[in-house]
Amino acid sequence: MNILVLNCGSSSIKYQLLDMAQTPVLLAKGLVEKIGLPMGNFTHKPEGKEKWTIEQPIADHTVGMDLILKALTDTNHGVIQSLDEIKAVGHRIAHGGEYFSHSVVITPEVKEKIQACCEIAPLHNPAHLKGIETMERLLPEVPQVAVFDTSFHQTLPEKAYIYGIPYEYYSEYKIRKYGFHGTSHKFVAEKACQILGWNITKKKIITCHLGNGASITAINGGKSVDTSMGFTPVAGLVMGTRCGDIDSGALLYICDKKGLTPAEAVKLTNKESGVFGISGASSDFRELEAAVENGNKRAELALDVFAYNVKKYIGAYAAVLNGVDLIIFTGGIGENNISVRKAICNGLSYLGVNFDEKANQVRGEDKIISAPDSRTLLMTITTDEELVIATDTLNLVK
Ligand code: AMP
Repeated sequence: MNILVLNCGSSSIKYQLLDMAQTPVLLAKGLVEKIGLPMGNFTHKPEGKEKWTIEQPIADHTVGMDLILKALTDTNHGVIQSLDEIKAVGHRIAHGGEYFSHSVVITPEVKEKIQACCEIAPLHNPAHLKGIETMERLLPEVPQVAVFDTSFHQTLPEKAYIYGIPYEYYSEYKIRKYGFHGTSHKFVAEKACQILGWNITKKKIITCHLGNGASITAINGGKSVDTSMGFTPVAGLVMGTRCGDIDSGALLYICDKKGLTPAEAVKLTNKESGVFGISGASSDFRELEAAVENGNKRAELALDVFAYNVKKYIGAYAAVLNGVDLIIFTGGIGENNISVRKAICNGLSYLGVNFDEKANQVRGEDKIISAPDSRTLLMTITTDEELVIATDTLNLVK
């Protein structure tokens, strides 16, 4: 059964087509970029065939989706004969607010709720809705499923999600911590327990999703009990270009000094900050490490700040959980960056962590990176959010 997984952004569409029969197989993946700009890009990577790229103006999401569907069925670059072979579509939805604690089949009522969350996720949900409505037009008979970044964190206790501001802002405007990257945190925790033969309901796990966006989650008995991102994904760790936790007073002071509008403040904290803002060099950890090699002190500082923040959250979440059995590293940095993992894991002996430097020499694998006598285990686990979306979609439409 072929399932199309879509992640629609305001000017981009990421997609994967997976055959979910027995063992899931990736058939094709790709990316439409620069929708609405004078010149757009389309990259299509069919498995076992050459990559195909097109440069042309892509006026809107309908044009972008049309390109994708044509590529999937193209005689030279395609992987299926006809669109009838797509049995369901799974959408990654950034924000489900308090409405969704699970993935759901998309109905008019579900769309209304996703729409209602546009106010608190103006950068993401409107684009997701566009993607859903485009697919409804292009593939009207095909069921669609919504998988939310926030739903795994709906188990957070009130004390973890209420902010220290007047309660009316929660009751009237739903200002609270929601958390994101839920599909990834859930997936890697469950995968690690499967590998270890552990019963997740009896374990305390800290998952570190460290990519360009980064967040940490405390998972008790398989349920998210705290997470570092907040009302928006800008909170928590210092990230590639997001600032992470910052004194709200400092931000207001900057806004006052520079006369920033709210939109400009959003741009500053989301696009111009993080390790990019600190280093002035790059948001990419490989480039930062190359800059450090060339003696760039601010790049060194940026990496130090990042590792320090992750370590601090691990400590906080070990306290939340009253101990920890397993710490997982995932995401581009968590899976691949040996030196950042080392910087984070040095000095965790108080938690019963015995970091194994040799075992840590690993990239893109599911592996234990703590010594055999380590009371708390460390693991690298590769995440696969598209697979989670496809699996949830399959289970809901089957
Ligand atoms: P993501 O957003 O999960 O794709 O992660 C992107 C981040 O992962 C970037 O900062 C990359 O530099 C980093 N990354 C990806 N692959 C590697 C690698 N092989 N070694 C070091 N860092 C990597």
